[in-house]
Amino acid sequence: LKITVGKALDLTHTVRNGMTVYPGDPEPRIERVKELFRDGVNLTGIEMGAHTGTHVDAPIHFIEGGAGVDELPAEQFVGEAVVLDLSHKPPGSAITRDDLEKYDAQIKEGDIVLLYTGMSRHWDEEWARSNYTYLDAEGAEWLVEKGVKVVGIDFLSVERYGAEEPKTHRTLLGNGITIIESISSELGRLAGGRILLICLPLKVEGSDGGPARIIAYPLEGDD
Ligand SMILES: [Zn+2]
Repeated sequence: LKITVGKALDLTHTVRNGMTVYPGDPEPRIERVKELFRDGVNLTGIEMGAHTGTHVDAPIHFIEGGAGVDELPAEQFVGEAVVLDLSHKPPGSAITRDDLEKYDAQIKEGDIVLLYTGMSRHWDEEWARSNYTYLDAEGAEWLVEKGVKVVGIDFLSVERYGAEEPKTHRTLLGNGITIIESISSELGRLAGGRILLICLPLKVEGSDGGPARIIAYPLEGDD
């Protein structure tokens, strides 16, 4: 596969005050704690939940004794990714095993699988926070059987909003698959394609989540 360096696409939300967060999560607070005119330097303080904006879920998020984000090897989040176009699914519906099986031939063992639901186009709309397209537990199970290494989605969570049991998270994280959530709507430009994904979460000790900068390089050709 050929990479065209210099054509990276940034798939990351800008972290800002007042940005969309999962209902109930802490609101980010970003402020200048030192000012150039007064203190001789500009210095920003950042206070936020570990699942703010584009981020990675580590196993310890839902697995007792699981690895924190700092323990995950850097190469876990770098590799070939396939972007599945699931934007035909209505908001609030489940991505099921049936939906995913249609892409069977496109998904290789060790792949990063990115689910483009199109929900990211509604990132700032309040209704979407409790009505987004999600991955159901059977769909997650199928991805485990396929041997993929990471599953990503372009909205707040892979889980159904308000699910009483985090079955999708447990199925993925409990089987060594890490999760990327809140990928930006730029992912839509890559729907249906293969990319080289580089996703580097902040190395925070013991953290269940890691805010990440993620970029993609489109891949051309068959191998
Ligand atoms: Zn998360």
